Amino acid sequence: MSFLELRSLTKNFDGLRAVDGFSLLLEKGSLNALVGPNGCGKSTLFNLITGALRPDSGSILFDGHDITGLAPHQIARLGIGRKFQVPAIFDELTVQENLIIAAGRSPKRTDVNSIRSLIRLEDAQDRMAGELAHGQKQWLEIGMLLAQTPTLILLDEPTAGMTATETRATAELIRTINQSEKLTVLVIEHDMAFIEYLACPLHVMSKGRILKSGSYSDIRQDPDVRALYFGMQEIPANA
Ligand code: ADP
Ligand code: MG
Repeated sequence: MSFLELRSLTKNFDGLRAVDGFSLLLEKGSLNALVGPNGCGKSTLFNLITGALRPDSGSILFDGHDITGLAPHQIARLGIGRKFQVPAIFDELTVQENLIIAAGRSPKRTDVNSIRSLIRLEDAQDRMAGELAHGQKQWLEIGMLLAQTPTLILLDEPTAGMTATETRATAELIRTINQSEKLTVLVIEHDMAFIEYLACPLHVMSKGRILKSGSYSDIRQDPDVRALYFGMQEIPANA
């Protein structure tokens, strides 16, 4: 059985079909990326998985539970954590305080110091979160997510606004989280350089459903994907 199973999910907004028969299986411990043009339904899909929105039809199975229609806090408690595009950190608190607050939401004991070194903020424990560089704020939020001890993490454009160096470091961080922390990870991303560093299976979404799945090199060469994603639209460096 798959760890996360999305079965024919559909979500309409006033006649607009944002998610249209979307199906995907994720194995436990896997790392996968979801890409696709703006407005194709990626964030809506995350909202369905986390319970922020209810699907109109279809079902979601996670770790042996049918979570379709559960409340967000119930889904979070079962082990699904999500990072939004804009970091939700407490600017007026230190790095360490932010991590401790997040750990307080976890039912398990969390080693905040080891998370701090994982997210490259080992020497920043007493710095105010609001004073961190943009990329460091994003990493702090990933750390806060880890402190809540999820088993599946959903990352929505984690490199938005990052420099090329920060983007590369973020890809390494996500690979480490997946491999050494044994977390199942699904990342939404626009930035193709980042996707290439991630070196994981890729699912291209178009108009609410999956157009193609494959490796980065398969996908880059696919004529349908090129027409959709590489041809018609300039790929922003940091969208
Ligand atoms: P992506 O994350 O791939 O850019 P979204 O999932 O945010 O796309 O949006 C998919 C489509 O659904 C877009 O046309 C967007 O305007 C629309 N949409 C998203 N959320 C809502 C909402 N809460 N109400 C109405 N329309 C929405
Ligand atoms: Mg989005």
